[in-house]
Amino acid sequence: MNKDIYLTNNLNNKKEKFTPIDKEKIKMYVCGPTVYDNPHIGNARPLVIFDILFKVLKSKYGNNSVNYVRNITDVDDKIIKSSKEKNISIAELTSNIIKDFNEDCNYLNLEKPNQQPKATDHIDLMIEMISSLITKGFAYEKNNHVYFEVNKFEDYGKLSNKRLEDLIAGSRVEVSKNKKNPEDFVLWKPSFDDEPFWKSPWGSGRPGWHLECSAMSKKYLGDIFDIHGGGIDLLFPHHENEIAQSRCANSTKSFANYWIHNAFITMSNEKMAKSTGNILKIKDFKEDTDGQVLKLALMSAHYKQPLDWNEKLLIDCQNTIEKWYEVYLSIDQEITLNEDILSPLYDDLNTPGYIANLHQLYEKASKGNNKDKSLFVLACNFIGILNKTKEEWLFIKKKKLAITETDILKNIELRNKARKNKDYKEADKIRKELLDKGVLIVDKDGKTIWKLK
Ligand SMILES: [Zn+2]
Repeated sequence: MNKDIYLTNNLNNKKEKFTPIDKEKIKMYVCGPTVYDNPHIGNARPLVIFDILFKVLKSKYGNNSVNYVRNITDVDDKIIKSSKEKNISIAELTSNIIKDFNEDCNYLNLEKPNQQPKATDHIDLMIEMISSLITKGFAYEKNNHVYFEVNKFEDYGKLSNKRLEDLIAGSRVEVSKNKKNPEDFVLWKPSFDDEPFWKSPWGSGRPGWHLECSAMSKKYLGDIFDIHGGGIDLLFPHHENEIAQSRCANSTKSFANYWIHNAFITMSNEKMAKSTGNILKIKDFKEDTDGQVLKLALMSAHYKQPLDWNEKLLIDCQNTIEKWYEVYLSIDQEITLNEDILSPLYDDLNTPGYIANLHQLYEKASKGNNKDKSLFVLACNFIGILNKTKEEWLFIKKKKLAITETDILKNIELRNKARKNKDYKEADKIRKELLDKGVLIVDKDGKTIWKLK
């Protein structure tokens, strides 16, 4: 594709042309889930957005040219707290949630990242990085804690546009007598009682949360890479601290070249957060909503804008997918998506613009030939929707009927038998019973077929 990709880079808050370091090896790191509880739709938004970015990058640079790394945080205070509340081991909790998380990703038809490293598999690299920061004079040890000394890094605050004085005045920093300065943040801390621990030169303990992304991005992508993404809540302090740690440990002038952040999902214009109790978990949708409907809803606002969630949004998306399946056909011809169709996505991942294109392609397909229909389906497939065949889609709808497919077929057989025996009263009775359950029977060319009422 000749078209350029533009992205809003939070390093300068401008929309910029994306220029990779090496166009054959694009490197993208996205902060993944902290596996202490099942993901909610606020967690699903970055998963969907960066999946789209992954697809857009591959469409331009080639299928094998993007290395997408998304970590799993499996050691953290919230995990420890949750395992105690649930009275199960940390290992059990995290492996259960990772399993559920992967199922949620499949439900949303997301592509797997190239790597999904877990924090606990990389503690040695984190210890190495801390040692290097101490040796270079950017970190210090006090009472089995290691802190990063923020004022040693002059670019601190550049990503989030925060000044050190404001941070201290706003007291958004954890106070501790071990720290030289209030704004310093923890790289290593001791573990107590039954908390998980690893041996280190500073005693048995565990790493500070920010460190894992610096260590794992270095291992899988190198000291400097192209894109770093995540939800807007990670911009400060998480990403600011990642930059400080990585640039100081690696002695580099930069870390990630493009920083992309998605906005929150709100409910009645309030941030969706566990603390406020207005949480909708992904798994709660599975019963009644197909994954592609939820996915379309999550793409309905531009990633930089908050997405306000409500029942109507989901109903609208359900109706849209329903309508789009009317022109569905399996693609069996050589067609490609042209630049015009993809252009909203190339322009800063404008998903609402792309959905508008899909509506236009649908209009054309509904009046047009098989080629128009194929093009429409291909354009839907690009963002991971209309990924099921029409039969599968209908089957999903059938599942909501008060009768199983086996029973429908059994009843048809009974009805045919009754008709053969000229017991038309019985045949009509079966027909009516099926109709009451939403199934319409049609006799055609000597065969009996069924469809949804
Ligand atoms: Zn991270």
